Amino acid sequence: MTFSAEKFKQQFPLFAQSENRSLVYLDNAATTQKPACVIDAISDFYLHSNANTHRSSHRLARRATEMVEKVRRDAAAFLGAHSPREIIFTRGATEGLNLLANSLCAGLCPGDEILLSTAEHHANLVPWQMMAERYGLKLCFVPDEAGVPRFDRISEVLTPRTRVVSVTAGSNALGIRTDLHALRKALSGHDLVWVLDGAQLAAHDVVDVASIGCDFFVCSAHKFYGPTGIGLVFGRESLLQGMPPWQGGGEMIANVDLLSSEFAGLPHRFEAGTSSLASIAGLGACIDFLARQNRAEMARHEQILQQYLHERLAQVPELVMLSHGEDNLGIATFVHPRCAAVDLAQWLDGRDIAVRVGHHCAQPLLRAAGHTATVRASIAAYNTREDMDRFIAGVEEFLLQLDTDGVEAAPQPSAR
Ligand code: PMP
Repeated sequence: MTFSAEKFKQQFPLFAQSENRSLVYLDNAATTQKPACVIDAISDFYLHSNANTHRSSHRLARRATEMVEKVRRDAAAFLGAHSPREIIFTRGATEGLNLLANSLCAGLCPGDEILLSTAEHHANLVPWQMMAERYGLKLCFVPDEAGVPRFDRISEVLTPRTRVVSVTAGSNALGIRTDLHALRKALSGHDLVWVLDGAQLAAHDVVDVASIGCDFFVCSAHKFYGPTGIGLVFGRESLLQGMPPWQGGGEMIANVDLLSSEFAGLPHRFEAGTSSLASIAGLGACIDFLARQNRAEMARHEQILQQYLHERLAQVPELVMLSHGEDNLGIATFVHPRCAAVDLAQWLDGRDIAVRVGHHCAQPLLRAAGHTATVRASIAAYNTREDMDRFIAGVEEFLLQLDTDGVEAAPQPSAR
């Protein structure tokens, strides 16, 4: 089974619409487009199976419940979990990280340490900051160079008080992959739990939490061709068993009294209220869709594109590259000393090239690197060499026009 980006792209209806025929979509780290099978699964759910799960015993409710539990089993296999009880549905990676921060920190003592990195998405910083404030915990950070974490030096900051290490498997701002094998080695033998933010990784690699060795893994379906509004938390069953729920409500209880309640077993104890059922149906279709692809060839295609992109961008005079093509998840990010990132992005948008500009929800990292905003082009498997060429030509054309117009250094836009 080979991989053809052109054939792959044909499965995404958005690109077939007349207004999008010439679109070069390079904002995939923010969200990917959706294949027809995912869109159909969402609409099929509403057309044929719409009912709330677990509560009722009628035919539609049973069908919805069976669908959710099947997707849970598929998601367990998709992430390499031992059991569907280790899979919790959330709204996305952000909610998954909030769940873990709330639930794990409730069992910690003042002065206990949470170890994070400077490259974290705000979703893997703010929840821990909130818990540190609530429980008197100490936030510590992996040593860094201009904001780029040196995970190879993590042992220097591990202490007997380190209870949780929560780090990204790949930076959404710079694309740098974390060396998970080395990290596992460095953390082994320490009495702590290891949370991995896999929001960017899951789109590009086959994930196997068993071989990674992490205790918890979070991701969002919309980053890997699935719907918005649905994400996954993998947690080791033995750890989840001992953790308190973080939200209360229907579905997560076994018995409720006026003054106290008994909670349901795994994984429902962590899923209060009605889940995004149609999105779960879409996630199921997305997992099947990915299973039908040659993931190794797909990853190879993305690697070739990102290396080409980095090589070409490195040749553009004056561009300051913040990312590089080694161990990169398909993200190229840069600034130009004589123009605001937002102006370049708007120019590209006028040529039907979609990139992101801003701090990419990684303000501490960008600040440490001395910037408030960068241009970020991020690759998915439907991108082609032609997309890269159109993007680079757009950048070059903009810079040429900057030279001929004699535009002076523009201030960087305020952070967004
Ligand atoms: N972590 C990383 C590394 C991300 O890239 C993102 C999304 N940009 C998130 C967490 C949060 O994901 P979501 O907004 O889907 O909850």
